[in-house]
Amino acid sequence: MSESYAMEQGASFSIGITPYYSQHVEHPALRKTIIPQETECRLNPGEWTDPLGEENHRATPHLIHTYPDKVLFLATPFCSTYCRYCTRSRMVGKPQEYRSTYEETYKYIEQHSEIRDVLISGGDPLTLSDAALEDILIRLRGISHVNIIRIGSKVPAVLPMRITPALAKLLRRYRVWLSLHFIHEAELTEETRFACNLLSEHGVSMISQTVLLKDINDSSAALTQLFYGLIQVDVKPYYLLQCDPVKGSAHFRTSVKKGIELIRSLHGNISGLAVPQYVIDAPGGGGKVPIIHSSQLKREGDDLLFENHEGKIYRYPDPLKAHQDNEVVS
Ligand code: SF4
Repeated sequence: MSESYAMEQGASFSIGITPYYSQHVEHPALRKTIIPQETECRLNPGEWTDPLGEENHRATPHLIHTYPDKVLFLATPFCSTYCRYCTRSRMVGKPQEYRSTYEETYKYIEQHSEIRDVLISGGDPLTLSDAALEDILIRLRGISHVNIIRIGSKVPAVLPMRITPALAKLLRRYRVWLSLHFIHEAELTEETRFACNLLSEHGVSMISQTVLLKDINDSSAALTQLFYGLIQVDVKPYYLLQCDPVKGSAHFRTSVKKGIELIRSLHGNISGLAVPQYVIDAPGGGGKVPIIHSSQLKREGDDLLFENHEGKIYRYPDPLKAHQDNEVVS
């Protein structure tokens, strides 16, 4: 009912699922992360279509420059599977001009010697061909001040057969860090573990970002299984992200209190290597803020206020009524 209603209303953003993911990742909790729900059609208080304020920092049609030394290179709007909680749901899967205007983006990076770190994302860059990827990597590696090149991708989880020896060699040749996106241990299928092992054998460095999702991975046991599973395939859990307040995401968001409880339950109980940083990406563009204790947060109505690395105050919507565990963080 909820799914068909969402489809009829016109889901807020693109729908796409690989046949592999729909057939091989058999876990009931994951269904709502890929199939639109009725709740996705609403704009709830505190939600934005662009929760990180990226459009205010768009330097070229394909570049977001928020941090001084780091840029986000939007290489393609295409993903092979569209996650219903995606921060960039406003643009992924939607027609845009690309490639034709990369030149302006390369020039911008060349002219800004403070840029050390380029995160190639989108969309999912591993949906590009090897040749298209190599074109980008050649240009970026030709810029002497670019030190770190990362690619953000969910492909090993949703389309693991895309990870070929040729792709692994290409990523290693240009010293690319892969920033992978996993949300549940069920995604670590035989095929996905094979893909990660292939990348590891070719010397590709891998980290993982996990979005904390209500009723999907918001338990100590689920996170422990996922993080240990990632370590076993040489992927370092890097961030546990509080779900961004993107339009229609209320049903995915846990309270921040729950996030703090979960990360504290992991510290000291599992290997430190398997514990990521729990962060809130400050809505509006304040950057990622590691959260370790409730003393960092101040409640103001249904919002939590916290400081970023510059001492600026940001607010995250954390409605008391929406959470069963609605104790006040003071
Ligand atoms: S793979 Fe990444 S960019 Fe694509 S829909 Fe999922 S979260 Fe968004």
